[in-house]
Amino acid sequence: MPELPEVQTIVNELDRKIKGKTIKEVVVDAARSALPSPKILIAKIKGQKIKAVKRRGKMIDIDLGGDHNILIHLKMTGQLVYVGKTGKQVSGGHPIGTVGELPNKFSHVIIKFTDGSVLYFNDIRKFGWVKYATNIERDIARQKYGLEPFDKEYTLENFKAIIKRSPKKKIKQLLMDQEKISGIGNIYADESLFIVHVRPTRTAGSLKEKEIKDLFLAIPKLLKFAISKGGTTADNYVRTDGSKGQMVNYLKVYGRGGKKCKRCGGTVNKIRLGGRGTHYCPDCQK
Ligand SMILES: [Zn+2]
Repeated sequence: MPELPEVQTIVNELDRKIKGKTIKEVVVDAARSALPSPKILIAKIKGQKIKAVKRRGKMIDIDLGGDHNILIHLKMTGQLVYVGKTGKQVSGGHPIGTVGELPNKFSHVIIKFTDGSVLYFNDIRKFGWVKYATNIERDIARQKYGLEPFDKEYTLENFKAIIKRSPKKKIKQLLMDQEKISGIGNIYADESLFIVHVRPTRTAGSLKEKEIKDLFLAIPKLLKFAISKGGTTADNYVRTDGSKGQMVNYLKVYGRGGKKCKRCGGTVNKIRLGGRGTHYCPDCQK
């Protein structure tokens, strides 16, 4: 699943491409991908103009002005493909082979704009969704996401409170809990813990004050850097302009199991933690 930097990269690119465009037609071919129902989604967003494309956690939040919004979650296999009026195709999210002819059998929601450009929401497993929301419904959806690393509520005090409230939880699993802290997945959990020399298997309650502060400072810095590199292109993510995110070249520990630690020369360990591949250096992460 794309993490905060990857979703932010999609959001930045979509904002450039679809802002100001008016929705001419909406086609839905899978009821579970269009919420609250295909009928409502189509009726509510047709004729609306895109005011801005934003993000909360891993959720894409499209502001149509007034009381109208579109929320999109890519979940495990969702993909957004924008096709310009000249037919130039760009995709973001999870690649489904080569995108090829569109629409295809995975194109569950198709948003056509008055200028001839089209946004396709493709999803093999149909866990993702495109949802119409009023402002109140959007606010409720946003509240499901925890502390956002770029908001003013992201303070040491609030961060510390989250750590202290779940002392028995493994620190990595706590970082990845979207209801507590927003936008961090497997890659950036491993990376941020490497930066602060903390083993992912430690319990949150075992972290010292200095380690909590270091982690609090490291997370937004790491995410900002990853956004500046266009995110991490792994097997499951490409940018909307079709280019690859460069962050993969800057990862320090993620995906490096069995390789030499970039910091101390030890050997990076790969274990499974909560069902997820987890990477750390046993020599310099205590
Ligand atoms: Zn090391």
